[in-house]
Amino acid sequence: MRRILPHSNLVFGRLPWLAGRREKRVATTHSLYKDPFQEVALRNRLLLLVAVVFILLVLFVIWPIGIPTEVAHRPKLVVVIIIDQFRPDYLVRFRPYFVKRGFNLLLGGAKFVNCRYDYAITATGPGHATLFTGAYPDMHGIVGNDWFDRSLGRSVNCVEDRSTQLAAPADEPDGRLGASPKNLVGSTLGDELRFASDFQSRVIAIALKDRAAILPGGHTANAAYWYKSKTGHFVSSTYYMPALPPWVAKFNDQSPAKGYCGKAWQGLPETPGVRGKTIRAFAPKSPEACPGIQFLEWLADTPFMTEIELKFALEAIKNERLGQGPTTDLLTISLSVNDFIGHKFGPYSPEVADLTLRTDRYLADFFNALDRLVGLDNVWIALSADHGASPTPRFITEHHLGMGSFEKASAGAIDKALSNAFGREKWIKSIQSNYIYLNEDAAKRRQMSLARLEAVLAERAMSLPGVRTAFTRTQLLTGMLPQSPLGRKVANSFYAPRSGNVFLVLNPYALAGAKETETSHGSPWNYDAQVPLLLWGSAFKPGEYAIPCQTIDLAPTLAVALGVNQPSVAQGQPLTPALRLP
Ligand SMILES: [Zn+2]
Repeated sequence: MRRILPHSNLVFGRLPWLAGRREKRVATTHSLYKDPFQEVALRNRLLLLVAVVFILLVLFVIWPIGIPTEVAHRPKLVVVIIIDQFRPDYLVRFRPYFVKRGFNLLLGGAKFVNCRYDYAITATGPGHATLFTGAYPDMHGIVGNDWFDRSLGRSVNCVEDRSTQLAAPADEPDGRLGASPKNLVGSTLGDELRFASDFQSRVIAIALKDRAAILPGGHTANAAYWYKSKTGHFVSSTYYMPALPPWVAKFNDQSPAKGYCGKAWQGLPETPGVRGKTIRAFAPKSPEACPGIQFLEWLADTPFMTEIELKFALEAIKNERLGQGPTTDLLTISLSVNDFIGHKFGPYSPEVADLTLRTDRYLADFFNALDRLVGLDNVWIALSADHGASPTPRFITEHHLGMGSFEKASAGAIDKALSNAFGREKWIKSIQSNYIYLNEDAAKRRQMSLARLEAVLAERAMSLPGVRTAFTRTQLLTGMLPQSPLGRKVANSFYAPRSGNVFLVLNPYALAGAKETETSHGSPWNYDAQVPLLLWGSAFKPGEYAIPCQTIDLAPTLAVALGVNQPSVAQGQPLTPALRLP
């Protein structure tokens, strides 16, 4: 016995209590069949030993293997596709006409059918900032596409940055002014991916609109590219790079528009309401060599732009070797032409039907190419939208839904009312996204209470036909809002340094600034606020989820799945029922 013990102590040297038990076990083997109670005790000890060995195995053998599995589960590339002005009903109404691997590929993943923006100003800038920061404008500061800057005394665009220029070469007729995300408060998903990988992860953002590329990319994106319709070129800004990379210059030199010369926008044979008819043909007012400026202008409002944009995205994947590095890369693509065409025809038009079917087919080609380049097993894809759209004023009035066209609250009439109440002055500085900005200097000069001015203005505005309600800045700053869903939505869109003095909420189906057969968006109502949210890839459990979902949940969901920190101002929650965590 004693000769065995030192050896067993050697084997279990790090666990002396176990060595002691082994000593006892060996000691009892001689009296094995003498006492049934001892037999039970021995069996218990054997079981204990097996359990201990199993735990040790888990601790030292299986667990370390589990860690690389968790890392391997992360994708090489995440692609987030935003369709500008894309309502969730499009994925239902047009599904019978979709091909196998376009939208249907993503519809086979996790599909959230009850997702919306819980805020008041549903526009492109705020929508894109929200999806990638996981927060509403009260946090990320992008309250609209434009707002009135009190210190500058003028309107500013959400991605305006006069310290930047377009990356060279930039022979744009509209000038060389660049743009950047400097107005965006807080980090994006892409920023967090970059920080977590010591900047090895690559983040590239593409759109036709500047804001739809710059805001998703965040502050540390490797590049954001957008499109200039007057030259038909993709551009970037000196915020990212002094000059365009050779592959972008080459793509521009080859004139992506050229391939469409002589073509018309022909409806697909299967599109309901069109059935192969010509939707828009190019008819120049004066002769020009193709692609000339008139052709480029025509092309900019056709679905062909999505084909061009996705071709550009594939060039980015190839040339920047996205999905080929040691860490996860992020590509964001915002398909902007859906908004341009949507505005012109409205959600129930055959044009939007054909556009949606074509988007489906272009996406199918893109996914197939992505499979060849990176392998779909290595990719996660998310799809959402920055906002929806209202029916056209004509549709609204035909179906007795509401007012239709809303005559923009005339600044002159409001000025007059305020002048009558408080003395002659130019009281209104600006109106942006239904926010009225008051002349605060005049109020100071006349030693007048701004709160009183706002209250009178709100009361006056609420008497206008088509106005549902009005909220004042004082109400928003002091938290004196009605405890209602509408109050909450307006608060979520309020960022004090940029928001105005009185915010007007129009009635549902009252549209500011849309012609009879055109449409718009921007309201808190569901036709503008509801969007699809699809998640596809190894981290997501396929299924249809009707749980409450907000667009601020997208970035937190992807952050959790990728194992990176939440964007700094994120307020959303991971959509855990659909997550398959490592
Ligand atoms: Zn729009």
